[in-house]
Amino acid sequence: MSVRSDAPLAIVGAMQEELAALLAAMPDARPETLAGRQFWRGHLEGRPVVVVLSRIGKVAAATTATVLLAHHGVRAVLFTGVAGGLAEGVAVGDVVVARDLLQHDMDASPLFPRHEVPLTGMTRFPADAALANALAAAAQDVLAELPAHLPADVQAEFAMTKARLHRGLIVSGDRFVATAAESARLRADLPDALAVEMEGAAVAQVCHDWGVPFAAVRTISDRADDAAHADFGRFVGRVASPFSAAIVRRTLTRL
Ligand code: SAH
Repeated sequence: MSVRSDAPLAIVGAMQEELAALLAAMPDARPETLAGRQFWRGHLEGRPVVVVLSRIGKVAAATTATVLLAHHGVRAVLFTGVAGGLAEGVAVGDVVVARDLLQHDMDASPLFPRHEVPLTGMTRFPADAALANALAAAAQDVLAELPAHLPADVQAEFAMTKARLHRGLIVSGDRFVATAAESARLRADLPDALAVEMEGAAVAQVCHDWGVPFAAVRTISDRADDAAHADFGRFVGRVASPFSAAIVRRTLTRL
């Protein structure tokens, strides 16, 4: 598919609060409703963008991505949100930029290898390297400038001064992983998975079908263990949303 270079960049967010933070910086944003989703077209950091809430889960996110790609002619898709940390050392407050994405609950074996998306021959959907590099560089900048983005009490509460950037595999499935037993199972099945969430690999698959570059960044909101639910709401409101919005804005200035 050829896409004009002045075509908008899509920003697909999984969090209402983050979307609100981005829309506040887009005074010219105008919504268009399709399939029950609001697609906000406007400018962010001087760049044309379309911003939309993914909704939760693979089907909801794939539908959002399909409508976005079919109706908005975007040149690339950036996905942002929160995720549970899986690999050792991926802590709450850390940032993960996807190198590739996999659906951990896809299993059509023995007809197809476990985790392979039937009829695609693919298990892992790679992120666009240039976009992922831009996201990682922006995340690194934002992590280095934390004081400008978060109040000191919030940084202390979540030990954000130790926050790090990781790059690698993100896995997605239609489950909020909230027990130590389930995250241990995922780690055993997919030892190189850094983080688990519920949308990324679905959007990556849709973008692959359309030939549109895709990249994803997630702030770690919980460790996908028995404390996951308790951690979640507070972290999303106080830390993850302003943080993700800052990373997206910084990424745009690098493209
Ligand atoms: N916003 C809802 C719940 C969201 S579900 C609430 O008010 O509680 C969790 C969202 O965060 C999904 O979009 C998913 O992609 C991501 N996520 C964060 N931690 C996760 C985990 N441990 N397992 C799966 N998804 C997780």
